[in-house]
Amino acid sequence: MEESKLTSKEDLLQAVDDNQDQLLSMLDRLVSFETMSPPARNTAAIQQFIDDELTKIGFQTKRVPFYEGDELLSAEKKGTDSSQYHSLLLNGHVDVATVDRDSWNTDPFKLTREGDLLFGRGVSDMKGGIASFMYIFSLLSKLKVELPGDLKFQSVVGEEAGEAGTKTLLKNGESADFAVVGDTSNLNFQGQGGVITGWITLKSPHIYHDGNRAAMITTGGGLKAANMIEKMMVVIQALEKLERYWGITKRYPGFAPGTDTINPAYIKGGLHPAYIPSEAKLWITVHFYPNENVDDITKEIEEQVIAAAKADPWLRDNLPTFTWGGDSLLADKGEVFPSLELDPEHPGMKALEKSFVDVADKMPTIGMSPSVSDSGWFGYYHIPAVDFGPGTMEQAHSDNESLSIKQLMEYTKIIAAFIYDWCHSKGEE
Ligand SMILES: [Zn+2]
Repeated sequence: MEESKLTSKEDLLQAVDDNQDQLLSMLDRLVSFETMSPPARNTAAIQQFIDDELTKIGFQTKRVPFYEGDELLSAEKKGTDSSQYHSLLLNGHVDVATVDRDSWNTDPFKLTREGDLLFGRGVSDMKGGIASFMYIFSLLSKLKVELPGDLKFQSVVGEEAGEAGTKTLLKNGESADFAVVGDTSNLNFQGQGGVITGWITLKSPHIYHDGNRAAMITTGGGLKAANMIEKMMVVIQALEKLERYWGITKRYPGFAPGTDTINPAYIKGGLHPAYIPSEAKLWITVHFYPNENVDDITKEIEEQVIAAAKADPWLRDNLPTFTWGGDSLLADKGEVFPSLELDPEHPGMKALEKSFVDVADKMPTIGMSPSVSDSGWFGYYHIPAVDFGPGTMEQAHSDNESLSIKQLMEYTKIIAAFIYDWCHSKGEE
C-alpha cells in the first residue's frame, strides 16, 4: 500500500482476511479469562486486558465500578468530524455461562480448533463478537484509518445474570446514532421481546397459632383470618386468566401466539408447622412482546391481581403488594430485559443491511430473538439498535460450545465494512 493513499474499505476487508491469526489469538486471550456468571465478580482482569489493548491503539477508555470484582468499560475513538458524521456504538458482554468441566471434551478456557470449528466457553456467547470488534479496532489503527464519526465500544458485565451493566452505562448518558449489540444471533438481525420478574406478596396483619385454624375456616368460627399460602391461589388464578387472555388477544410478527407468558416460578410462604402462614411471596417471570413496555405490562398485571383480590372477602382488606424487576438476579433476586423493536427503515439498519449484502451476497434475515440480550436497554433508552452477532443459540451456554470460523470471519467483514461506511456517512440535520 502506498503511504500517501487513503485506506479504502476494500483495503480494510483485505486486511481482515490477511490477518485472521490475530483474530483467533485475540479470541484465545478472551476465552482464557474465566469469567463465569454465576458466580460472577471475576471480570476485573479481562476488563484490564481490554482496556490496555484499546488504550494502546488510541481509544479513550473509562472504567465504571459495578459490583466488587466486576467493572464496566466504555471506550471511544473520537471521529475527525464528529458533529457532521454518524457515530456508532458497539456493545458486548464479557461474562459467560457457568461451566461444568466434566461435560467438556476440551479445556473450556483454551481455544481449541477442529476444522472449521472453534471450541471454548463463550465463543458463541459472546467473546467471538468481542474478538471481532477488538480485531477490527486494531486493524483500523494499523491501517491508519481516520473515521470522521465517533466509534464507541462498551465492554459490559452481568448479562448472563440479568445484571444492569448495559443499563448503567446508558443511564449515564452514553449514546450514539446507531448501536449494534454483538450477542449470539447466528448473523440474523434481531429485536426481542422483553422479560421482567416480579414478587407478589401477601401478608396477614396477625400471626396465629395453628390451633386457630378451626375458628378461621368453620361455620360459626368467628375469626376473620386467612392462610397466605391458600390465598395465593387467588393470585395464581388471576395470573392464569390474564395469561390466557394475552395468548388469545395479542400477537407480534416473529413470535408464536401465546409466547407472552406469566410463569409462577418460585413460591415461598409460611413459618413453621405450628403456625398459620402469615406471609407468602410468589416470584413470577413475565414475557412480553417487542411493542410493549415494562411499565404498561406491570400495570396490567397489578390491575388484574388487585381486581381478583378485591373480589375476595379477606384479601380486599389486605391487598397484595408488588415488587418489580431488580438490577441483578444474583444480588436483588430480580431482573429486567426490556424489549427491542426493530426499525428496518432506519439509516443504520439500511447501512448494516448493505454491508451484509456486500459481504455475504444475500439478504439478512430480520426477525426476533427467541431469547433476550442487553439489546433491550437500547430500546428502553430510545437508541436505534439491533442485535447482530456470530454463533448460534444451540451453542450458547452449552457444553463444548463452538463457533464456525467461516461465520466469525463473515461477521468480522460485515462489521468492518459497516463501521467504515457508517462512520463515513453524514448525519441528518
Ligand atoms: Zn450473550
